[in-house]
Amino acid sequence: MRYLVISDIHANLEALDAVLAQPDAQRSDRTLVLGDLVGYGPDPNAVVSRVRAMGDSVVIRGNHDKVACGVEPAERFNHYARLAVEWTARTLTRDALTYLAALPAGPQSVDDFVEICHGTPFDEDVYVFDDIDALRALRAASRGLCLFGHTHVATAFRDAGSRVSVSGRPGQTQEITVEKHDRWIVNCGAVGQPRDGDWRAAFGIVDTDTRRVSMRRVEYDVAATQAKIVAAGLPEVLAQRLSVGR
Ligand code: ZN
Repeated sequence: MRYLVISDIHANLEALDAVLAQPDAQRSDRTLVLGDLVGYGPDPNAVVSRVRAMGDSVVIRGNHDKVACGVEPAERFNHYARLAVEWTARTLTRDALTYLAALPAGPQSVDDFVEICHGTPFDEDVYVFDDIDALRALRAASRGLCLFGHTHVATAFRDAGSRVSVSGRPGQTQEITVEKHDRWIVNCGAVGQPRDGDWRAAFGIVDTDTRRVSMRRVEYDVAATQAKIVAAGLPEVLAQRLSVGR
């Protein structure tokens, strides 16, 4: 089985379509969507439609999805995130809001090798940035490969017994193999708003036969997304950050 892994699309249709057009994405058997379909970006309805049209997929919610559809208040959001989520809530169709409200929380088991979560397996809203965070998350994971999102930083951590080892620098890890009895927690990065210094859309391909995870990047028409953000009246900083990946 080959899984396409996408997370943190954030209503960025150009980035999502660039990922879906990749040959390896089109050859995948299932798509795993790790939450934050909306928030920040200018195309929430179109992104929800794309995700709903995917064939065999497992989709979980992210914190922005919860706030946009009213499952949770925006009290923990910063100024720009709050402005954007209020715009998103006004812009989403009733049908899309209903869909987002019904999305399950992570973690969700995909098979006996892979599970997915938005933040961590023990709390969907907690961030994994460093090896201390990763150790807690790995202890709570129920599969050899736990895929997560939420930080918008492509990175991978391996449980090495008493401590955790990080594979490469954030944004630099490209291929890992999950050996039998190994445990990894892997973030393939954000599709629609990367924050690891690489502006390109991030996604992952998991091959369950070879137990390999491939972390990929693809260029997209960032200027088009930026123009839509400005035209929608969303904060301009949300457009500017896309071209620097921060
Ligand atoms: Zn996010």
